[in-house]
Amino acid sequence: MLAELEAGLAELSEQYLLRQRRVVQGPQGTRVQVDGRSLLNFCSNDYLGLANDARLRSAASMAIVHYGVGSGASHLVCGHQLPHEQLEARFAALLGLPAALGFGSGYMANLGVITALLGRGDAVFADKLNHASLNDACLLSRADFQRFAHNDLAALEGLLARCTARRKLIAVDAVYSMDGDLAPLPALLALAERYDAWLYVDDAHGFGVLGEGRGSLAHWGLSSPRLIYLATLGKAVGGAGALVAGPQAVISWLQNKARTAIYTTAALPAQAAAALAALEIIASDAGRRSQLQARIAQLRTGLAASSYRLLDSPTPIQPILLDSSAQALQLAQALWQRGIWVAAIRPPTVPSARLRITLSAAHSEAEVASLLAALLELERDIA
Ligand SMILES: *Cc1c(COP(=O)(O)O)cnc(C)c1O
Repeated sequence: MLAELEAGLAELSEQYLLRQRRVVQGPQGTRVQVDGRSLLNFCSNDYLGLANDARLRSAASMAIVHYGVGSGASHLVCGHQLPHEQLEARFAALLGLPAALGFGSGYMANLGVITALLGRGDAVFADKLNHASLNDACLLSRADFQRFAHNDLAALEGLLARCTARRKLIAVDAVYSMDGDLAPLPALLALAERYDAWLYVDDAHGFGVLGEGRGSLAHWGLSSPRLIYLATLGKAVGGAGALVAGPQAVISWLQNKARTAIYTTAALPAQAAAALAALEIIASDAGRRSQLQARIAQLRTGLAASSYRLLDSPTPIQPILLDSSAQALQLAQALWQRGIWVAAIRPPTVPSARLRITLSAAHSEAEVASLLAALLELERDIA
């Protein structure tokens, strides 16, 4: 078996698909320390620059003083502490939804929600570019798993019209994590209504950024008892964990049936306290979002006349499509040598290789200008 794994690893390496980790020797930020070097960071999902914010640090430290470190048990036993409860309530209020439930991560939330709501005899309709955790959740649910081409509403309607399943759920990313574009949520909700389905919205990349911080439902002005909403806390919120919000009956059902919320130790109370502090900043600080929009515009304008194929994205996820995994890796390595860290994203994470640039409200104009200068200098080698 070891020889087989070693051969598999060698094959990945030959195809430029071997993945490696780097050790970051300090906090997240627009500059990070790696191997004693300070690198300009354009690959984190810390879109609002909150991961190392003093107010989150202080909220987490105070929670450690009050509640200690470990939660001690699962939520249903004795691990559900005051910061967890406050976070769920604050989140539901911010979204304008009746109730919310916390999970240890977005991955766990997707697995828990989909498998609790669907089973054999049900059907789930999923966009082809959905996040891996949603795909895993759909498979694990044993529902009939039907995927439609990216944002193809006609294809989805065809599947819904032919479906005879008892319970139907449409599952999408609100902002596609590797392309940065948006799902057409109003049209998806209209289809859910026409065909009596639920609409599950994974807003990992929209919450905190879109809709004045309240995420994609607010961005599109949507509200419906058919909506079930997921925000993750590891991206714009700057921490870790996830929250699901929706009708009270859905949340109570999940509390009783979502296995990834039940058979796992509650997150550290300090994690919930930090997220609660982040929600206050997200609700009140519009300046961060306008700063982020300015950096997005700067990057897009700066590359407009170049030969780089920038995807049409209005979000902090700004991918440059490349011809091959080798080319993506070479460009990422050339930037790395210039002190700039951008992730090369390759199959099987995405169908086609790309450089995934992510921007943050914490980036300065000069930092984005440095990235632009390096990209334009490397353009000849790539085209
Ligand atoms: C990151 C991400 C997740 C997983 O969230 P974690 O909290 O990191 O586990 C789920 N869905 C989407 C679309 C994501 O981008």
